[in-house]
Amino acid sequence: MKERKGRAALCRVGARLAARGLAPGTSGNLSLRLDDGALLLTPTNSSLGDLDPDALALITPKGVHHGGAPPTKEQFLHAALYAARPQATAIVHLHSTYAVAYACLRGLRADDAMPAITPYSVMRLGRVALVPYFRPGDPRLGTAVGAVAAGHHAVLLANHGPVVAGPSLESAASAAEELEETAKLLLIVRGSDVELLRDADVEELRRMFPS
Ligand code: ZN
Repeated sequence: MKERKGRAALCRVGARLAARGLAPGTSGNLSLRLDDGALLLTPTNSSLGDLDPDALALITPKGVHHGGAPPTKEQFLHAALYAARPQATAIVHLHSTYAVAYACLRGLRADDAMPAITPYSVMRLGRVALVPYFRPGDPRLGTAVGAVAAGHHAVLLANHGPVVAGPSLESAASAAEELEETAKLLLIVRGSDVELLRDADVEELRRMFPS
């Protein structure tokens, strides 16, 4: 995507995610990898519902801040995912309520943190990875995300929230919304006698809808 279109797209998607209640306060951050390899990121301490296209941070392919406000302090999360997923052009990171609540549960599987409860979660999220808790800004969080990102485009950060990469901003945002809904469903049915999708059903979905 070209820079001018990218700036408009980030503002549009940010407003949509905020309007749906997925970006409380100044939480959440978005990024786009432009055609020339530069990154556009939402600024630090910005509200996704009120983004200014001219204030978005532009980072050159060599990692130099080249205009706009300073980028989100969680830029290193985005960098870790882009490095591991050359095909990704957009990343959405949220502190959305149900996903964060789910990320606080004990006993989640690190390589498949969200059981296959609906076909849509399987189709849009694949297997969701879980990385352990690190304090905000700890470089070990980026390392942990980078270590799983090649095999997972959706990663849940324990006690923190989801980060999702996609081949387009729309697909990354849509997957982040699917993750939030899946977390909500899993919390609603928690403790009930749940029928998960069978392994054969999951394999069929993965074959027909590779994510
Ligand atoms: Zn965060």
